[in-house]
Amino acid sequence: MVSVGRIAALSDTGRKRRQNEDAFVCEPPLFAIADGMGGAQAGEVASRLAAAAFEEGASAVHGEDGVATVVRDANARIFERAVQDPAVAGMGTTATVAVVDESASSVTLAHVGDSRAYLFRDDALRQLTTDHSLVGELVRSGRLTEDEAAVHPHRSVITRALGTDADVEVDTLTLEVAVGDLFLLCSDGLSAMLRDDEIVRVLRSAGGDPSSAAEALVAAANAAGGEDNVTVVLFELVSEAPPSPPATEAPEPTGQLEPDDVTVEDVRKHGAGRGSRWPALLLLVAILGVAAFALWWSLVR
Ligand code: CA
Repeated sequence: MVSVGRIAALSDTGRKRRQNEDAFVCEPPLFAIADGMGGAQAGEVASRLAAAAFEEGASAVHGEDGVATVVRDANARIFERAVQDPAVAGMGTTATVAVVDESASSVTLAHVGDSRAYLFRDDALRQLTTDHSLVGELVRSGRLTEDEAAVHPHRSVITRALGTDADVEVDTLTLEVAVGDLFLLCSDGLSAMLRDDEIVRVLRSAGGDPSSAAEALVAAANAAGGEDNVTVVLFELVSEAPPSPPATEAPEPTGQLEPDDVTVEDVRKHGAGRGSRWPALLLLVAILGVAAFALWWSLVR
């Protein structure tokens, strides 16, 4: 049995683009990345439609069929909108979705396009998804090396997307997970800028903290050129659920967070820490009050 521990998500426009067409969802047990494409602001429309569909489906997703259904539902919504509205005709988006099943100690992934899911376990990084991209297919068939793919002029061409067709083929995968696992979902604005060994170095120096890792990954992608929007979602798996926050504390991160330089930390843990200091402070004030009253009483008598 595992539980979702600390969570972090960060999205940045990068250094070359004017708009951020990435979207993400952090709605435990569901996490997702969508990287939109299309002229004008169509890419943003597509990725946000996908994120909204994932957000709505988050609480009721079970198993590979369930996750694939949510992704196909998002595809249908985007496709319908693209057919009805000429302004966004031809828009599309990638989708990489991870759903944690805490009681089964498993994570199910569904993905379309070139956004990636990685697992960082025992100090090693494993790419869990295969890119549905032109260069990805050329690398798999042995016609390009990874290094050639990294600088290929058509490296951003994807061969599968949500919203460009009435139906879509969705890859799914379920893997057993363990306490200590750290998952990273990212748009190609990260993976095109950083090699896997560079990602490992950043994750290592973050010491397993999702928040610092998110910030450092985005900073590293920008330092490497920041040619595209870069979005990362990280979540760790721990042995037990963090304590519930007191009623007066900040709400848990819910819904699709605005992907504009937002960091989501595990407010549950931090909330509990802040909350537990208040009773001690109130007690101290009460004791001082009683002492002052006793002193005043002894003087006026
Ligand atoms: Ca991109």
